[in-house]
Amino acid sequence: MFSGLEKAAKVLGESSQPPTPLYICSNCKEAYSEVQNAPDACHYHPGTVVINHDNDEAWVDCDPEQIFDDPEMREENPEGFMWTCCDEAFDAVGCKLGFHQQRGVKTPTAAPVLPTDGERENKRARRS
Ligand SMILES: [Zn+2]
Ligand SMILES: [Zn+2]
Repeated sequence: MFSGLEKAAKVLGESSQPPTPLYICSNCKEAYSEVQNAPDACHYHPGTVVINHDNDEAWVDCDPEQIFDDPEMREENPEGFMWTCCDEAFDAVGCKLGFHQQRGVKTPTAAPVLPTDGERENKRARRS
């Protein structure tokens, strides 16, 4: 169902191995060198970030009209967002361990794919 995003991430995950000693990990956004890289070096979230409308406390000061997904908003209000992979807040430590990965120097600003409110509701009503 939601494999489209994963597919995109995989395509972006191809690295071209530039000859610089430090890389920026595309998973956790931290600098690393190949010597530091290990199967458990990287904590990251394989999922995507969505607005956590369930967390009323996080958004209590916000006009509903003002709630939108935006990098600044994520920084300011990490509790108001959650990862689709683990339902943790945006600033939670990555729920997956793996190698640091590098997908090129430039980090393209991906256009956010925002599901409609209806779709979000459905997604949250997750089956156990
Ligand atoms: Zn996660
Ligand atoms: Zn990493």
